[in-house]
Amino acid sequence: MAFFQDPPRLGNTFASDPLLREHLERTLPAPVLGEIEPELRHLGELAGGALFELQAADRPNEPRLVQWDAWGRRVDRIEVTPLWREAAVLAARHGLVAAAYERRHGPHSRVHQHAMVYLLEPSMDVYACPLAMTDGAARTLLELGNAALAERAVPRLTSRDPARAWTSGQWMTERTGGSDVSTTETEARRDGEGWRLFGTKWFTSATTAEVALALAHPEGNPKGSKGLALFYLETRNADGSWNGILVNRLKDKLGTRKLPTAELTLDGARATPVAGLTGGVRNITTMLNVTRTWNSVAAVAGMQRALDLARDYARRRSAFGALLGATALHQDTLAGVEAEREGAFLLAFRIVALVGRQESGEATAEERALLRAITPLGKLTTGKQAVAVASEALEAFGGAGYVEDTGLPRLLRDAQVLPLWEGTTNVLALDLQRALGAEGAAGALAGEVERALRAAGDPALRPVVEAARAAVERATRFLAGAGAPAREAGARHAALTLGRALEAALLAEHAQWCLDGGRGRRALAAARRLARNGLDQLGAAGDPAEAALLAGAEGG
Ligand SMILES: Cc1cc2nc3c(=O)[nH]c(=O)nc-3n(C[C@H](O)[C@H](O)[C@H](O)COP(=O)(O)OP(=O)(O)OC[C@H]3O[C@@H](n4cnc5c(N)ncnc54)[C@H](O)[C@@H]3O)c2cc1C
Repeated sequence: MAFFQDPPRLGNTFASDPLLREHLERTLPAPVLGEIEPELRHLGELAGGALFELQAADRPNEPRLVQWDAWGRRVDRIEVTPLWREAAVLAARHGLVAAAYERRHGPHSRVHQHAMVYLLEPSMDVYACPLAMTDGAARTLLELGNAALAERAVPRLTSRDPARAWTSGQWMTERTGGSDVSTTETEARRDGEGWRLFGTKWFTSATTAEVALALAHPEGNPKGSKGLALFYLETRNADGSWNGILVNRLKDKLGTRKLPTAELTLDGARATPVAGLTGGVRNITTMLNVTRTWNSVAAVAGMQRALDLARDYARRRSAFGALLGATALHQDTLAGVEAEREGAFLLAFRIVALVGRQESGEATAEERALLRAITPLGKLTTGKQAVAVASEALEAFGGAGYVEDTGLPRLLRDAQVLPLWEGTTNVLALDLQRALGAEGAAGALAGEVERALRAAGDPALRPVVEAARAAVERATRFLAGAGAPAREAGARHAALTLGRALEAALLAEHAQWCLDGGRGRRALAAARRLARNGLDQLGAAGDPAEAALLAGAEGG
């Protein structure tokens, strides 16, 4: 009989993830875990079962922009995929945003929320993107204290009723730039009824959202980022027509293809300033911190999905007379990436836990300083790891990993956006330097690494402890000692060194807890492997001679 390869399969993705279960057991009070575990198990079943099947069946579908109706009217209707319609209902019912605002589990509510996101997102085709922005908008409206807007929008943004729930967009990027919004061209003009926005937004994800927070220059304000204000707008009028918005086209993207990302013209969209007519960049920071945290969680969720599939495949695929999973080299390859994902997971969920403590008012000053630093640090470190892990995971399927109808190539394409949006690696590395310059932040970060390492007393963890300490020391010395140009050139290397060292420390702490509780040596092996993969990324950072590498063929 001819040979046909068994495809990779998923089981219950909660059950197949010992790290998630251990982490929740280690960090949550038993009654909280008892309450949320049945739902997480149910979501794991869904994510590895019915939703995964729907995702496979839905693979060829993509969102569509219908600009005109049959009678020539401009309608700009965006039709999303069947899976997205299902994801919207699931997200509302399970409270993927709401759980953080209902605060049923006090400071642990964010962990509850993000554990659900982590389980569902890999089967939701990047529906986490609009949810992240929705969460960001709700938090921003609450924090900026605009009672009228908060009262109007937050109950909808955090609703569990799919018929009432709203999502939000985040409209910053223009043709002039996304990292640097100082040259934003969108203008806000006041008329008898209030403010209206005029301009072009170049990347707006999930333009199906009911509301958006947008940056614009109120007329008369000085040019530059200081003259920007943050505006709230509803995308539709009461009669369902667009609120002065034209959808020019959907982006034809490498990945996140189920996510409708549009170019928009704002042609008099009615909008309301959220908090005054300046300070827009400062005011949107809350939203960015929320979406960066979601980005870290999406990164670790994607890594776990890729590895879950690769591990299963290694049990089904034979080469040279042996199952792949039984060959020492394939085992070593997957172990190397599993160690990356375990470190990344613990870093992402440490951020989540700190957000929860901050929002419940329980965070110490040191924890608040730590959160400021590790939000960009976590996003940039896990984003890079997500791409590397997805790439390696695809190779673990051989040619099948490159073939579209296996559903596997999407894993890499969707990962590629993670280091890019919500702040690129370089932009966040510079942001981290600013964060570390603030009072107490550098000490809080070093203190966090030490806190975790002090817990890791097992002699088998000594190489991890030493490598993490050495990496932090080297990065700290570099940041303190380098001149400004070298510090800037080495920002990414220093940041990744700190991010990896923190991951190794958190993994060592976790491994010690596993050892103490008789939970096996997997986490210990992961910690040791992460350290061997390399923590110190500084290398030859900041060599001015390297500028020559950018010159063209005729350059010096
Ligand atoms: C799928 C997708 C969806 C998106 N959705 C949205 C959305 O909903 N809303 C929204 O507002 N935006 C959105 N964006 C835009 C995204 O946030 C921006 O593309 C991103 O912030 C980068 O901005 P840019 O494209 O202007 O790149 P640039 O800022 O031009 O960056 C180009 C390169 O220069 C580097 N760079 C920039 N500044 C520095 C510096 N000072 N030092 C060193 N290196 C630097 C960057 O790291 C990058 O490698 C989306 C993008 C994508 C791909």
